[in-house]
Amino acid sequence: MNAASYLVNLAPGALATLYGSQLADGTPTIASASGFPDSAGGVTVSVNNLNAPLIYVSPTQINFQIPWETPVGTAVAVLVTRDKIPSAPVNITLAAAEAPSMFLNDITNGIAWVTGAQCTLVECAIQVGGAYTLWANGLGPKNAPLQDGIPAVYSGSLTPLEVPGSPASCQLTIGGQAATVQYCGTAPGEIIDQINFVYPAVAVTGLITPPGPYVDATLTIGGVTGTFRLPAPASADQLAQQTLALMTQDEKLQLVHGVGGPVTNIIPLPRGAGGYIPGIPRLGIPDLYFNDGSVGVANDSQAPSTALPSAIASAATWDTALASSYGQVIGAEMKAWGLNVNLGGNVNLNREPRDGRTFETKGEDPILAGKINAAHVKAIQGQQVVGCIKHYALNDQETGRTTANVIVDERAARETDLLAFEISMRDSNVQSVMCSYNLWNGTYACENSHLLNDILKGDWGFPGFVMSDWWADHSTVAAANAGLDQEQPDNQFFSALESAIQSGQVAPSRLDNMVERILRALYATGAINSTGAVTPIDTAADQAIAQQVEEQGVVLLKNASNQLPLNPATVASIAIIGSHADIGVLSGGGSAQVYPAGGAALNEGYPAVPGWSPVIWDPSSPMQAIQAMAPNAKVQFNNGNNVGAAAALAASSSVAIVFVSQWTSEGMDMPSLNFTDVIHTPALDQDGLVNAVSAANPHTIVVMENGGAQVLPWLSKVSAVLEAWYPGQRGGQAIANILFGAVNPSGKLPVTFPASENDLPHPTIAGPNPPSSSAPFPVNYSEGLLVGYKWYDANNITPVFPFGFGLSYTTFSIANAALANNLSAGDPNFEVICDLTNTGPVAGAEVVQVYLGMPANLGEPPWRLVGWQKVTLQPGARQHVTIDVDQNDSSHPMSWWNPTPGAWQVAPGTYTVYVGTSEAMGDLTVAGTLQMGN
Ligand code: BGC
Repeated sequence: MNAASYLVNLAPGALATLYGSQLADGTPTIASASGFPDSAGGVTVSVNNLNAPLIYVSPTQINFQIPWETPVGTAVAVLVTRDKIPSAPVNITLAAAEAPSMFLNDITNGIAWVTGAQCTLVECAIQVGGAYTLWANGLGPKNAPLQDGIPAVYSGSLTPLEVPGSPASCQLTIGGQAATVQYCGTAPGEIIDQINFVYPAVAVTGLITPPGPYVDATLTIGGVTGTFRLPAPASADQLAQQTLALMTQDEKLQLVHGVGGPVTNIIPLPRGAGGYIPGIPRLGIPDLYFNDGSVGVANDSQAPSTALPSAIASAATWDTALASSYGQVIGAEMKAWGLNVNLGGNVNLNREPRDGRTFETKGEDPILAGKINAAHVKAIQGQQVVGCIKHYALNDQETGRTTANVIVDERAARETDLLAFEISMRDSNVQSVMCSYNLWNGTYACENSHLLNDILKGDWGFPGFVMSDWWADHSTVAAANAGLDQEQPDNQFFSALESAIQSGQVAPSRLDNMVERILRALYATGAINSTGAVTPIDTAADQAIAQQVEEQGVVLLKNASNQLPLNPATVASIAIIGSHADIGVLSGGGSAQVYPAGGAALNEGYPAVPGWSPVIWDPSSPMQAIQAMAPNAKVQFNNGNNVGAAAALAASSSVAIVFVSQWTSEGMDMPSLNFTDVIHTPALDQDGLVNAVSAANPHTIVVMENGGAQVLPWLSKVSAVLEAWYPGQRGGQAIANILFGAVNPSGKLPVTFPASENDLPHPTIAGPNPPSSSAPFPVNYSEGLLVGYKWYDANNITPVFPFGFGLSYTTFSIANAALANNLSAGDPNFEVICDLTNTGPVAGAEVVQVYLGMPANLGEPPWRLVGWQKVTLQPGARQHVTIDVDQNDSSHPMSWWNPTPGAWQVAPGTYTVYVGTSEAMGDLTVAGTLQMGN
């Protein structure tokens, strides 16, 4: 006989197991929770002639309790009697009068039996942070001596801790981490004791097959320590499978659709969320609150949150660590508001610069966009919030977005728009993907099996769930079979899922797969443990990050005669003109609209809004911040509505700072790339304003608040231009810090600024014809691979400001550019090295960019971004910079998508590696060439 378990020694009352053969008939019997018989199916176990309480009886194993009356220190006989036939006795000696014993699941390897809400009778798939129970004996005070087989009548309460002494006398350590012990003592209604604990985050100790990975644990009771093993935390997949196995069909169906209303009758959802699915408490599944959050938590007035600079400003920092802080703010504030599924992660590529949602995106290059987006999403998920990437895929314009049929071939899609998603997904481990409104090559994205099943879930191995954009699905059977896992925000089509399953049009396993993916997302991120508790957001700390992102993301586009930085000691008077720069800064509209913590500086255009959200000016007054930087200067404001008055103020001031702004929003594209007032009637002529002010004052500085690329007809007339994007609620301070040189600008454009709309691949945006038509219309991406700067390079069109461009108050030089390392086809990774020197007067940061020219016969764009590094240097300082380009990176930096056989491949031929400070050839030098294959 073996002892069932032991921490120290067997004692009276301990749990024990004996093994043998033909111990009992038939199927195993497990005693009911409330009583332990001393005979089961004609089987008894006697210890020293007393029948022991039986817990588990099977032909090969019997678990029982050693009777309390068993004497200590002398050999006693144990024997099993089956159908009145006794076995041969086995002698055991109880060594101790009192010793806690642990009930084991696996006697040989000492792995303890763990139960929990979802695993009372089956092996628990352990979840970090989950609450479990260990079964033991000898822990708590007895009403004793208990009579064998008669359950203890527990008359106390479960709290406080019942262990004699103090809570400190029951210490559970798992994998070296102290577990929170919630209860340790008599199990109510049982003859044994229990330890309720929360499983901490631990590293696995080892693996035994079977039963599997385990973690060493110790239990110290009243100063006596015993060791044993616990099952290791399970994977998100195992946890999802465990929960799925317990679900009813109704519960499964509950998780695959939102409960909002149809677009014609939207039901207000709790917490102001954009989507809601009630939880399933019996399975520990929390209520799911889906909330937008690309540029801060976007939640009508119910959850005012830190308004970050627009996501494109984050991309303009080229700083993935700072992008991570950006995501962390969003995730932490989501969590604080009790919201647990983020709907941010907009990584649609900026093929169409007039796209009204450009401010939510990360620009036109798939690698920069993918890496910045991944940093956002990963950090969001780090806050136990399910992250999302959207809108999958090719949703690059708002005009006719629900019926736009994007025509583009597989290779072009894979290397451009889809690559941004692939990088985002792989680098962030994102758990949800939102399929888009539009069609790709004739099929709606949310029922496009090639997009969802083949590429996303197949080629990329996406383990999470696909939700529809709001009302973006069009079918039940087609969507379900194509890979849609969750309909949002309502149940228009998935209400027919059950009947589709009954009629065999959708396999039951498909529903299971949908649910398993949703559950997996909750377990993988920890959102399963969201309590829904609302706690205060730390907006002060978060606004500091907002300011830092803006300071790093502002791009200095022009600085003639070192107009900037302004010198507070010498500037006598400053005219501040336009865009409510006396009180705030502009933000972008639509579902990403953040309602800023502390309230808006101004709600404009409401209720006659140009889109479907108000025009919100975030707090933080540029004027106040400028005055604070230059306390002795005379700072005056003119609203710019009257061009003559604005010019007059400019003429009487030492410098004029004109704030121009372009409101953009989901649901609409920009009418043109010029600054076009869509807020006021009649519209303000901002180009005319800049012309007049610059004519009146030769020291005119333009600060632009907008979502993406613009055309600047007055560029040659002004002395300095700052691209401030939508600056977020600390934008005023950030802009002032840059204007006065407290911060040296280091942002770089994530989008190309063309000279004119005629230079775009599509001078006119395709739309439904007639505009009222709801039939799909073609959007032909005839430029194919030539997205953004690649179009300009391939067609020898010179943009006004190239991708990657941005000035500084200092200057940099790049020298000794070369290639190093594995320059062979067998291991096609390489390193670009160069020396970067700050040759100017002040500290600053430069983004060293690496571009790769592919073998000429592939028909690739002339060069593509493959890596970069942002380096900060003191004046005169020099740094050796090394940038790795790894063929195995998620960005496939050296590969092309070969449609036959349908794979990323490194082609033979000559590759040219460039290094420089923007993508424009004039800013690049050749670091070297690589020869692959023959
Ligand atoms: C937008 C999504 C957004 C959803 C929920 C849709 O209109 O396209 O980006 O997440 O609404 O607000």
